[in-house]
Amino acid sequence: MTNPIWQDILNTLEPTMSRPNFATWLASTDLIEEIPGALTITVPNQYAKSWLEDHIIGDIEKLLKKSVENFEQVRIVVAKRGASSLDDLPILQKATEETDEKAIADEAPKNNPFNPKYTFESFIVGNNNRLAFAAAHAVADKPGEAYNPLFLYGGVGLGKTHLMQAVANHITLNNPKKKIAYVSCEAFANEFIEALQHKAINEFKRKYRSVDVFLVDDIQFLANKEGTQEEFFHTFNTLHQANRQIVMTADRMPKEIGDLEERLISRIGWGMVADIQTPNFENRVAILQAKAKQMNFNAPPEVLEYIANTITNNIRELEGSLTKLATTATVEDCPVTVELAKVVMKDLARPNTRNLTTKKVIKVVTEQFGIDAIDLLGKKRVQELVYPRQIVMYILRHTLGHSYPQIGDELGGKDHTTIMHGVEKIERLLKTDNQVERDIRDVSRTLEGGE
Ligand code: ADP
Ligand code: MG
Repeated sequence: MTNPIWQDILNTLEPTMSRPNFATWLASTDLIEEIPGALTITVPNQYAKSWLEDHIIGDIEKLLKKSVENFEQVRIVVAKRGASSLDDLPILQKATEETDEKAIADEAPKNNPFNPKYTFESFIVGNNNRLAFAAAHAVADKPGEAYNPLFLYGGVGLGKTHLMQAVANHITLNNPKKKIAYVSCEAFANEFIEALQHKAINEFKRKYRSVDVFLVDDIQFLANKEGTQEEFFHTFNTLHQANRQIVMTADRMPKEIGDLEERLISRIGWGMVADIQTPNFENRVAILQAKAKQMNFNAPPEVLEYIANTITNNIRELEGSLTKLATTATVEDCPVTVELAKVVMKDLARPNTRNLTTKKVIKVVTEQFGIDAIDLLGKKRVQELVYPRQIVMYILRHTLGHSYPQIGDELGGKDHTTIMHGVEKIERLLKTDNQVERDIRDVSRTLEGGE
């Protein structure tokens, strides 16, 4: 039986974590009090030990402090099967075998690639991703028949992998006989190179050319890898001719992936190309609401709105903030307020931005573009001014976290919709125009360098 104090702590932590994380890292742990005040958490393997130490030991200590009298210290030990004092605990032995496998699978996602969390049901649909969602769903319902290939693209943390794995989960459920290969493009490239080195290329070919559903994540990694591209192309053709379903994702449009062969680009065009845009405010609030509900976390609307206003272009970060907030509120045992969210989000914010001021941003940008601050703050709508102005808006929004109305005031009394439009313009350009990325990086470097 699990130590009741530990069981309480597990019950507290469970709703603040994702289900797979909890199952993998905490479900088979226990607590032993050898001498009063000195505690030992037993874990089944080294992976679990490192994970706990890296992620939640601080939270665990706080919780222990509350529930154990004279709490002094806690250590984490791997309870090896041979360890004598633990031999009497059959439950731990069993857990050792099971969780070892799980932990290894987690270390090497290839072995267990489908995250059970990534389903169509848990995906929030908004205008930003409606087409991608519908296309992915159609493909999952009728693999090889609806759209082939399906190509999904969009920025980091916007749900590409989620949708792709939802396809896999859906097919596994409805068509368990179908052979599905999910691979990140990087893993595909590495495996290919390894196969070449070990003269196992035929095996490699057989493996990927015999599947019913081929899911390749992040194919922008094909850029500048001629050999892998060639192999990918032939795999693609073989599968496509046999009506096998192919789904690909990338962080940008096919033709924006540098050095992607023309013949591959044109094949991608045979199917459906769907983009995922950054979610708007309402989408972001809806996502937060759904995630909070999943976590059983009661957060008032104004708190969710605050988070949605602060993190604007990455759903993974939205999720991360919410989780962190939930953990902090539980551990510190305090009410969930906007104030608390501010504190938590400040911790998450990138370092090095603390001493940044609007003035400094304007100075750096005007110097980089060789224009006058007066003009930048003015209303003249010529491209030489509009673009740097929008860069300033973007940086004030994303790096300094200022609100749209605030930025409007700071830039000489502009309407908040103008600012929103400007920020979104740069966000869009960033996806397709490398020069914009370079410009922002240059400005950021100068800002980080500071004076
Ligand atoms: P990408 O592959 O585009 O970088 P992911 O698919 O890894 O992004 O998504 C990042 C995180 O955000 C995941 O935890 C995912 O579940 C979540 N997420 C993304 N989009 C949505 C959505 N529309 N609804 C619910 N969760 C989402
Ligand atoms: Mg991804």
